[in-house]
Amino acid sequence: MKHIIIPDAPREIESADRIYPPEYEGHFSRLLIKREEIIERATDLAKAIHNDYKGKRPVLLCVLKGAASFYLHLLEALQDLRQGFYTEFLRLSSYEGAQTSGTVKARGGLHYQDLTGKDVLIVEDIIDTGTTLSHLLPVLKREANPKSVEVCTLLTKRLQTPAKCEAKYVGFSIPNQFVIGYGLDYNELYRDLKDIWVISQKGIDFDPH
Ligand code: 5GP
Repeated sequence: MKHIIIPDAPREIESADRIYPPEYEGHFSRLLIKREEIIERATDLAKAIHNDYKGKRPVLLCVLKGAASFYLHLLEALQDLRQGFYTEFLRLSSYEGAQTSGTVKARGGLHYQDLTGKDVLIVEDIIDTGTTLSHLLPVLKREANPKSVEVCTLLTKRLQTPAKCEAKYVGFSIPNQFVIGYGLDYNELYRDLKDIWVISQKGIDFDPH
């Protein structure tokens, strides 16, 4: 499935598109992807997934918290297609602020045995270096012994060094910039934005306390 490429050059922001809590004024350098575009893309991805999993009941494993909004829209699109699925959730983190820490911490109450013998589709918000997935995949395969494992990610970044892991289903290929909104955070802020934006220095420096 072809990726949708979000170009490096910024696009104009209409004033009608500037929808965010007022305290975030100046916290972005660019509007990257609007929620409406994401929902449309989630529908396309759901069609591809349905095509591949027809007659099967995959486990859609949501990687929290960042993928939560995308997961919801993907599930809705699959429901419209009458695709059966199980839902599971896993909490992971490899980022501290805007820097990848290189280590992955697994949290949350996933029981690996619930995935045993099943077709698992990991739903991620973003693949950056691929470190998170390259840690998660072998653990999942070893501990859960699923029938199959694939990855669906909303975003991948265009990096000079290719990511350590690739997804079968990709929403958008984006420039190598730190993005926030639509569930994606910076130090737990900005998940409440409806669209995806590139963070500005003011956004990075912002201290809500
Ligand atoms: P990776 O392990 O592939 O380098 O990074 C994956 C994880 O890092 C994602 O699941 C996400 O939590 C976080 N991450 C990577 N890039 C970004 C970004 O641009 N914005 C945000 N908010 N999180 C990111």
